[in-house]
Parts: sequence; structure tokens; C-alpha cells
Amino acid sequence: MAVTYTPRPRLTDGRFDMTASTDEDGRYTVAVGYCAGPRPPYESLPPAVTQFVTAEQWGSDAGDPAQYHTDGHAREADARRCWARFLCDAQRSTTVTPTTQEPCAVCGDWTSNMVAVGTSTPYSMRLCDAHNTASDALQTMIAAFQLAQ
Ligand SMILES: [Zn+2]
Ligand SMILES: [Zn+2]
Repeated sequence: MAVTYTPRPRLTDGRFDMTASTDEDGRYTVAVGYCAGPRPPYESLPPAVTQFVTAEQWGSDAGDPAQYHTDGHAREADARRCWARFLCDAQRSTTVTPTTQEPCAVCGDWTSNMVAVGTSTPYSMRLCDAHNTASDALQTMIAAFQLAQ
């Protein structure tokens, strides 16, 4: 079953959360990433979530606890940026490609680090050791996807 990630306005106040939906109509939709608010214990999650998130993933994908919020975003673009920040914090992995080097997206130095952000459809970028951080990954994604500042 495909999971669609998209910002959606809340029914209560029209503010935007980043959401995951398991159908195109959005009938089975949950707020995800930092927009989901303080993370509830895995045992309390509904089957709509636990069918595609394991307890192990739930624990390891937490990111920065201080970033979770329940107040939504004024603009759809802000929810997209919030999601990018979550992915850079919680779902960033590095693979070293020993036979291939490319310029770091930030400084242009040659690097073998291939950094993947996100787990369902990862976005890959080259970041040297000095710039393989959540904030530099986020800045690279903001530039690549022209996310709102
Ligand atoms: Zn958010
Ligand atoms: Zn660099």
C-alpha cells in the first residue's frame, strides 16, 4: 500500500500539518514528523500507523524532541519545510562510495560521502565530513526543492 506524504489543512483550524495518507482521498491520514506533536508511546498508536512503522523505527526516528509541535503551520510551504527538517534530523544516513567522489553540496570539496535523507523515497546528496550535519543537509534540501525560508 502506497503512503502519500503531503501537507494538508486541519479540519479544526485550517492550519497545515505534514501528513501521511494511505489512500488518495486522505481518509486515513495522520500528522507526521514534528507536526505530529509530542510522540505518543508506540503501544498507543492506531493500526493505521503500526502497519507501516515498527516499534524499532518509532524509537530510532525521533529526531529533536524540542521540535515537536501541535499548532500546525500558517502555510503549506512551512509544513513542507518542517518535514524536511524532521527528515534531516531523524532519517539521515551516510554511505561511503570508495571508488567515487563528487563535490560536497556545501563547500565543493571532493567527498565519498553519499548522504540519503528520508526512508521511503530518499533524497541523496554529497556532503563532506565537515558538512554532514542536519542543518547543512536541510539547507541543501531547501535549495534543491526551493522550500520556503
Ligand atoms: Zn510542523
Ligand atoms: Zn563540505
